[in-house]
Amino acid sequence: LTKRTPLIAGNWKMNLDHLQAVAFVQKLHWALKDAKHEFDTVDVSVFPPFTDLRSVQTLIDADKIPFGLGAQDLSVHDSGAYTGEVSGAFLKRLDVASVIIGHSERREYHSEGDDVVAAKTKAALKHGLVPVICVGETAEDLETHGASAVPVGQLETALDGVASSAEIVVAYEPVWAIGSGQAATPEQAQEVCAKLRQVVAAKLGDDAAARTRVLYGGSVKAANIASFMRQPDVDGALVGGASLLVDEFAAIVRFQK
Ligand code: PEP
Repeated sequence: LTKRTPLIAGNWKMNLDHLQAVAFVQKLHWALKDAKHEFDTVDVSVFPPFTDLRSVQTLIDADKIPFGLGAQDLSVHDSGAYTGEVSGAFLKRLDVASVIIGHSERREYHSEGDDVVAAKTKAALKHGLVPVICVGETAEDLETHGASAVPVGQLETALDGVASSAEIVVAYEPVWAIGSGQAATPEQAQEVCAKLRQVVAAKLGDDAAARTRVLYGGSVKAANIASFMRQPDVDGALVGGASLLVDEFAAIVRFQK
């Protein structure tokens, strides 16, 4: 049986400028200072805006803070005439380890379809970044197709042509649960996360499915994290709103199984 280290990932979205980010990471580190044991058993990553990455990377490096650093998006291109875009190569140079791809806010407000998500997944892997591939159904999808059909289809497309050895993270984020205060039930999350793991098995093989972390995201907070973590196919959480509250996020990291 492969043991998967739980991952608690904080998606800050467009919040905290670089000065606020440094203060926040210092406070979060302090809040988790006595959590040595947790850090042996849980991975913690923060996903600040692009303009914060250099400052947060410097702080993490200088103070040996055990947080992984992630970005919220990347370009499908390596470099060139693409105004406003940020290359995976540049992120890698900043010690960024992972990158969120296909968040529902990018799909909705920036018209990113499954083809773009697939291209960004490949761009991340090409530059040695772990893609955190977000999938999830809208309230309307849920009504017409049930919970799993849309996320399963989204993940199948994202994994087209990905090598079986690739390290990826999958995040199941029902769109209706994001920022709504209405989380999925742990049973719903388990059901879809198990199906997403089957997609990883079908596309990348059983070994990849056994080692790939599948996260749940959508109104996760300290009060409900343990119920998700008890599910066998939920390996952690992608946290939005609660990742901006030091004590709340620290309590999520300290979830009790
Ligand atoms: C998210 O945006 O990835 C998210 C899960 O947000 P929230 O935790 O605020 O629902």
